[in-house]
Amino acid sequence: MSDVRIPEETAASGRTIPVEDPARGTIIADIPVLDDAAVHALATRARMAQPAWAAAGFEARGAVLLRARKWLLDNSDRMLDTISRETGKTYEDAQLELSVAVESFTFWAKNAKKYLKDEKVAHRSVFIVGRKVKVRYEAVGVVGVIGPWNYPLVNAFCDCVPALMAGNAVILKPSEVTPMTAFLVEEMLNDSGIAPDVFAVAAGDGATGAAVIDVSDTVMFTGSTRTGQAVMERAAKTLTPVSLELGGKDPMIVCADADVDRAANAAAYYGLLNSGQVCISVERVYVEAPVYDEFVGKLVANVRELRQGANEGAGSVEVGALTFAPQLDIVRSHVEDAVAKGAKIEIGGKAGTGTGRFFEPTVLTDVTHEMRCMTEETFGPTIPVMKVDDVDEAVRMANDSIYGLQASVWSKDTAKGEAIARRVEAGAVVVNDAILNYVAFGAPMGGWKQSGLGSRHGANGIRKYCKTQTIMIVPFALKKDLNMFPYKPWRSRMLGKLVKAVYGR
Ligand code: NDP
Repeated sequence: MSDVRIPEETAASGRTIPVEDPARGTIIADIPVLDDAAVHALATRARMAQPAWAAAGFEARGAVLLRARKWLLDNSDRMLDTISRETGKTYEDAQLELSVAVESFTFWAKNAKKYLKDEKVAHRSVFIVGRKVKVRYEAVGVVGVIGPWNYPLVNAFCDCVPALMAGNAVILKPSEVTPMTAFLVEEMLNDSGIAPDVFAVAAGDGATGAAVIDVSDTVMFTGSTRTGQAVMERAAKTLTPVSLELGGKDPMIVCADADVDRAANAAAYYGLLNSGQVCISVERVYVEAPVYDEFVGKLVANVRELRQGANEGAGSVEVGALTFAPQLDIVRSHVEDAVAKGAKIEIGGKAGTGTGRFFEPTVLTDVTHEMRCMTEETFGPTIPVMKVDDVDEAVRMANDSIYGLQASVWSKDTAKGEAIARRVEAGAVVVNDAILNYVAFGAPMGGWKQSGLGSRHGANGIRKYCKTQTIMIVPFALKKDLNMFPYKPWRSRMLGKLVKAVYGR
């Protein structure tokens, strides 16, 4: 790609990695790999730049983000092209990513100060009568953000946004599969007036990611559970806090009283969006018996209409490519395993034969939890659907998973839908929709079980990038408090009476 500048200083190790357009099977760039020393050099510069960025205040940092928002909208064609070329996304999948990013910039520019203002802490302890207690938040220093390839703008840079707003310097390690978006983001921030070295891109492979952990004061990681465990292990060496957004196997529960048309349309869209390469996509579906046939019929009819291929502009295709080469084998093996164990392919089921890396949008039925497609993260364009007797069975199946990222429940009775949602073991459950809680930026988004640790968005989405400091102030005081030396019987007795008077009632 000729119009994305690859920073020269990243040419540290002498090694390069080719970047592919997965929808066309062509190489679009060669990116240099940062080695350990280069990452340490970035961190040294980031540490020097960070105090002035923190001192600049929320308004100044927010102004940079709002200029970045304008830049993104003014340069949307370039950004959409860059995202789509290195991921193989459709135009609309890339457009969705850009829209969410714009929303994220707006949210954090507006709300960072509110979440990080000093908090007064009320207390009733007899030991600290008259004392004032407050908590303040201070930027940790250098934040390392390690991003995946499925959403190079949203799942990578948008986790940098609250870190920057909190006053940190940030080093972003993009996936080696999709680094070009990160380089364009760097250009965006530079053009928007961010101080030099406050934001840096550490392009490279897993070893570069490990080096980023070593130099960071806090790490935000999004990716597989397996790599998340490696990140946590590495961070343990320096006791560096980590926040992990990992895999999911998100269930969709369709009740007999659901709007079946909407549920089937949503299953197709939220199961196949971004070719199913979404951590919070619909990965498996449980449908109550009375509406099962109708649901499957409508889902298959919907999927039959979909066009798959390379992005040739707005409205050209609904389903794009598989971004990451090993993903094709994972998706194929999940389908083959299911068929070998008795599943039926209602539609799709094969990899594409032309140039580019595609797997047909696929609906599987007669599936069971003996099959990998129902228990392991597929992260591809497959929708396995299982018939259940009742809601209890659906909830039991939904919770039969090592993951607990997200889920959705479909019923026209929203009170019943919410009651079911409360029984599902997941960090977020959406009733009569899916995924969209992601753009409710005020609410935490994070996984239970092996889907993660911590959360993004909401108060914790920015406070996790801060140290807390508790300050206690004594405005008026006796020369000597009752509990101070020397111990006297009358003072000890009085203290005892005081405790009984306050807590003994
Ligand atoms: P990984 O989890 O391996 O990669 C995520 C990021 O971590 C990448 O930037 C990667 O760099 C980096 N990384 C790899 N090894 C290390 C390490 N030892 N220390 C620090 N950083 C490291 O995801 P994959 O790309 O391998 O995808 C595998 C599976 O992960 C998918 O099949 C899917 O199930 C799941 N996934 C989940 C996502 C989510 O949103 N939760 C997103 C993407 C994938 P590099 O790419 O350079 O190796």
